[in-house]
Amino acid sequence: VVQRHGVGSVILTRDGVRDSPAALLHPERDLLSGTGGSSILWCGGAGTALYWAYRLARRRGSSRAEPEVILPATACATLANVALVAGVTPRFADVDAAGMLTLETVQARWTPRTRAVVFIHLFGNTDELGPIAAWCARRDILLIEDAAQALGGLLPDGSPVGSVGDACVYSFNRTKILECGGGALLARTASVAQALEENARAAPKLPELDDRTANALALSYRNLHHALLSLFRLGRIAAASDVFLAVRPAYDELHLRPMPDPDALSRAWSALGRVLDERQAKAGRYMTRLAGGPWRLLNGWESSGVCWRFSLLLEAPDRLLPLSECVREEGFHVSNLYWPLHHFFRPGDACPAAEAFARRVVNLWVDASVDAQWVDACASSLSRHAMAASGGMHSEHPLQATV
Ligand SMILES: *Cc1c(COP(=O)(O)O)cnc(C)c1O
Repeated sequence: VVQRHGVGSVILTRDGVRDSPAALLHPERDLLSGTGGSSILWCGGAGTALYWAYRLARRRGSSRAEPEVILPATACATLANVALVAGVTPRFADVDAAGMLTLETVQARWTPRTRAVVFIHLFGNTDELGPIAAWCARRDILLIEDAAQALGGLLPDGSPVGSVGDACVYSFNRTKILECGGGALLARTASVAQALEENARAAPKLPELDDRTANALALSYRNLHHALLSLFRLGRIAAASDVFLAVRPAYDELHLRPMPDPDALSRAWSALGRVLDERQAKAGRYMTRLAGGPWRLLNGWESSGVCWRFSLLLEAPDRLLPLSECVREEGFHVSNLYWPLHHFFRPGDACPAAEAFARRVVNLWVDASVDAQWVDACASSLSRHAMAASGGMHSEHPLQATV
């Protein structure tokens, strides 16, 4: 008989909620023992995991008040979309110099309806959660850690990501640390685990969504997001919440997905240590090669042990678009897709620091699609173009906006 670590762990399949399968024993044991967690809900992604976390948060207050969740403004839009699907109103809090929530910014967005706070360990940077956790506990607010970009990472005090919040969500989908598909909601405390098990087993069936429709919807969603983002960056619009909120429900089903393949996660899990090491090595190369440029290098990955993307903040925000364009023209991925979410969902939740962050951040690749040579060449392309811009002379690719 296989002794399962998490009593009450379950998996969302197309046919409903089942006991967690034996194939997931190892990841389950590792996550639970690392975080001191109680049980896991395996599902299709961090978005689906958040949906169930929000449902738990809703049960906390009086049912008459419209519940709210506080999210960092520098977040993946999934966090806010899923909140609306779960019947929770997303509110957006400002961030620190690394793009993450602080106790002060959370407090500034608190209302009597606040039921949950989601802390994202952004790009693999992590932060001390003790003060936020203590504050949330005093107000019976559910603290959810989002480890989608920080799988296997450590907090500054050396404890694992996921070991402080009431719950933690994970993603194993494309572009994350492991890309085998799926996600998880970890219930850390016994009371959250019990509420989760009752809630998940009583949950309505997942929507039927065939792969072709799902892919077409996902593409449409990306296009919509990119199109709005360009308008924001170009200063053509300041907010788009009317347009966005009107069409947003068309994508709801995308966010509620079953766990696709437990065996794939089981296989990928055994390679996690190696994957993290390879990412660290590439991040280290960027660090050396980009030192002294017209930017600030985010280095939280050095202590957390996990680098999702290597990130830097340009000193001159007006250089971001032309510089990315020049580097892209030479064949290197660079991205900067984190436009502050309040512009899409709730323009009144002003977040000036998140705004400044979004206008300056550049993400560089460290995943398995690139090797050390690629990293070196990408860093050199970036340095060359940045130098040409500050010298202002004879650049092969003059830094004019090419949008
Ligand atoms: C990608 C991402 C999500 C959503 O993950 P899915 O598995 O695609 O639902 C949530 N939070 C963060 C921080 C992410 O990067």
